This record gives sequence, structure tokens and C-alpha cells, in this order.
Amino acid sequence: MKICMIGAGYVGLVSAACFSDFGWKVTCVDKDEERVADLKRGVIPIYEPGLDDLVARNVAAGRMLFSSSLPDAVKAADVVFLAVGTPIRRGDGYADLTYVFEAVEELAPHVDTGVVITTKSTVPVGTSREIERRLKVLRPDVDFAVCSNPEFLREGSAIRDFTHPDRVLVGCDSGRGRQVMERLYEPLALRKAPIVFVSRESAELAKYAANAFLAMKVTFINEVADLCESVGADVGEVANAVAPDGRIGSKFLHAGPGYGGSCFPKDVTALIRTAREAKAPLSLIEQVEKVNTERKIAMATRIEEAAGGSVRTKTIAVLGVTFKPNTDDMREAPSLVILPMLQARGATIRACDPQGRSKGEELLPGVAWFSSALETAEDADVLVVLTEWNEFRAVDLKQLRKVMRGDALVDLRNVYAPSLAEAAGFTYRGVGRAGKA
Ligand code: NAD
Repeated sequence: MKICMIGAGYVGLVSAACFSDFGWKVTCVDKDEERVADLKRGVIPIYEPGLDDLVARNVAAGRMLFSSSLPDAVKAADVVFLAVGTPIRRGDGYADLTYVFEAVEELAPHVDTGVVITTKSTVPVGTSREIERRLKVLRPDVDFAVCSNPEFLREGSAIRDFTHPDRVLVGCDSGRGRQVMERLYEPLALRKAPIVFVSRESAELAKYAANAFLAMKVTFINEVADLCESVGADVGEVANAVAPDGRIGSKFLHAGPGYGGSCFPKDVTALIRTAREAKAPLSLIEQVEKVNTERKIAMATRIEEAAGGSVRTKTIAVLGVTFKPNTDDMREAPSLVILPMLQARGATIRACDPQGRSKGEELLPGVAWFSSALETAEDADVLVVLTEWNEFRAVDLKQLRKVMRGDALVDLRNVYAPSLAEAAGFTYRGVGRAGKA
């Protein structure tokens, strides 16, 4: 099997490396020439644990190639994957399909009969059908199939997620498409990963439904956390009590500053638009979006309260700015809302993040950057945990407290045991922790 992967971002690069590791020959194409040049030199443009080794191994084995030129890669391919970005369209919240359709136009002149074109990008219902329609216009002479294969990997554990998926979802309306996709994922059969074949529309919608459900779960526990604070319960205990119920499960029941990232916010917004357009509005999901937006703002206020009611002339030390640990991805991170709000209210921000600094420097002007929690905490009035990187769990709280001016600790990820933080001299505030919020 020969694969052409269009887009060498978080999804394209990981998928390409994993498919190569299955034994398939993959050419990863990106129109960002600098990115391709880096990849050819062995420089991985994103931070994803284990990805550098996986890429190096497969490049060395001759199964993984990089190119900024589409024609040759498409010509040789049995399957062409579209793994380009589908951001929010400015102004109306729809998924912006510009990159997808541009890629379709670019690949059309080079496809041969038998090729299977597959969307890995998250695309709204009807996109595969539209790709097929456009390709038929551009290449009436070629017999091809268009499939949908939404990706469920998570940044930070992307390789494991790709190679040990709960399921592989394939939407296809043709026998040839199904045959090729079955063969492609055959190596996962040993791991008993089910391939779920559905219609293209169902596959496309299922990806949005999954993300909206998870966003709802996070938002649910966040609201329960607020209630815990008001009634003297502990959200960790509540979550532990409900999680063993197989109908609920333990994942995505961690209260925090609100969901962010490259997927949930944009996919929730796009699904809301799709549903409204279809005159079947998802009022529950509309509420999720509203609550989550308000939550990030409320977190800034919470920090302000910890600073004594105002952050004017106060110094806030922030541990972590990425939307979650083990990634350098800053897209829609809560830090991008919370930190500028604090700055606007007069705070000086000091920050550190094991992988987020270079993007953070671009996206968070005016923030002073440091390379460790200890340096960041120096002379700060308030210490805030925004991302639960492991290295922050292991810090010596007593030492941090010693170098700080103030004693407030706002732990928006419930990383520290309140008793330990208090023993270190902090006034501790977590999320949804009885008497500690
Ligand atoms: P990304 O922005 O990291 O990568 C997209 C890449 O595509 C970029 O490098 C860009 O240069 C390249 N590109 C765009 N147009 C191109 C073209 N015509 N030819 C060649 N290259 C082109 O995006 P991502 O995070 O990998 O997301 C890709 C898709 O996968 C999105 O639809 C996203 O919703 C979905 N998805 C993402 C994740 C995730 O965790 N990031 C998980 C599941 C699904």
C-alpha cells in the first residue's frame, strides 16, 4: 500500500508515522516548505512524545518520505489522506473548508483510476460527498472512491491513541473504498481494534458528536465543581464516586479552567452551526459553549480574588500555558483568555511551560518567561497552576513559597493536596474543593 498524507501537522504527521510503522510506504506532503525542509533534516516541527523516534525509525527504513510537491506523491498513491486544518471560519463559526477544497483542486490532476481519497480532517456532514462531486467535475475520466476516516487521537498521547484505538471509524459508500481501508488498518486487527464501517455522513457527524459529548462532560464536571464550592462537597470525591458506574466512566471528569485546544472549541461551534442550519438545534451543546466561555473569564476573577480583590500592580506567576500537558499546542488554551484579562487589569505576568514557551511568546505579549517554576515564582504575589505538567506536580512548594512575595496559590488543575500546600505556607484555592476554592 502506498499512502499520500496531505498535511504534516499534529494529525497528518502522527498518522503518517504510524502508517509507516505498520509497514506501508507513506509520503507526507505539506505546502509549508520550511516545515518539509525541517522534517527532511530530522527536525520535528511539533512536540508530541515519541514522535521523533518513530519518524526517525521509519525514515531510516525508507518507508516515510517528506515532500512539498503533491504531484508525484499523489500519482504513486493507493490512498490519499486529507489531514489539513479545518479551523473556524471568521464571522460565522462554520468549519472553514478552504484548505480541504484547495487540496482537492491540487490533487485532482494527478489521480489515477482506483485511488481512494480519504478525509482525516474533521469535516462537517456532507463534505465527502462534496469532495466527490468536485472531483467528478474535475476528473470525469477517473474512477475513484471518497471515504471519511475521522481521527480520534489526542495530542500528548497521539501515537498510543493511533496504534491502540478504541475503534477506527470509516465512512464509505463503495466496496473498493471499504476494501482498501480494511487492508490499511489490518495491522490493528491483532490489537482487536474494531473498524466501524458506516455511511460517510454518519462518520462525519460521529466525530463532531464525540467531541461535543466530551466537551459536555468536561463542562458538566466544571459546573458540579462550582456547586461543590457552594455546598461544601469535593468535586474529586464526587467524580470518584460516580466514575465506577460503567454508564459514566472516569475520563473527562477532571474539573479545571474550561476546555480549550485545537478541537473541542472549534468542533462544538461548527456542530452548533450545522445543527442550526439543519433546523435541528442542539440547545444542550449551545449551553456547553456558553458555560465554557464564561468559565475562562470566571477563572481570571478567581485569581483576582486570590490577589486580594485586585491584580493592579500585582505579580502573577503562571505554571503552564498550553491547553493541556505533553503538547506545545496553544490553540484556544484557557491561558489565552485568562492572562490577557489579568494584564488588562494591571497584573504583571511571569510564566513558564516545558513546551509552550515559543508559541506563548508569540501569542501572549508582555509576559515574562522563565525556564523553571522556581524562577517564575520569584517575587510573585499569586502562584497559578494552569496546565498540569508532571514537572509542576513534583515542585518543592516550600521553596516556591519562600521566593514569593505573597502566599496565594490558585490551583486550577487540583494538582496539589491542599494540606501540603498549606503546610508549605500557602493560602490554597483549588477548583471544586470544599472550603478551598
Ligand atoms: P495542523 O494545523 O497542525 O496541520 C495542518 C497542516 O496542513 C499544516 O502543516 C498545513 O501547512 C498543511 N496544509 C494545509 N493545506 C495544505 C495543502 N493544500 N497541501 C499540503 N499541506 C497543507 O492541523 P491538525 O491539528 O493536524 O488538524 C488537522 C485536522 O485534523 C483538523 O481538521 C482537525 O480538526 C483534525 N483533528 C485534529 C486533532 C488534534 O488533536 N490536533 C485530533 C483529531 C482530529
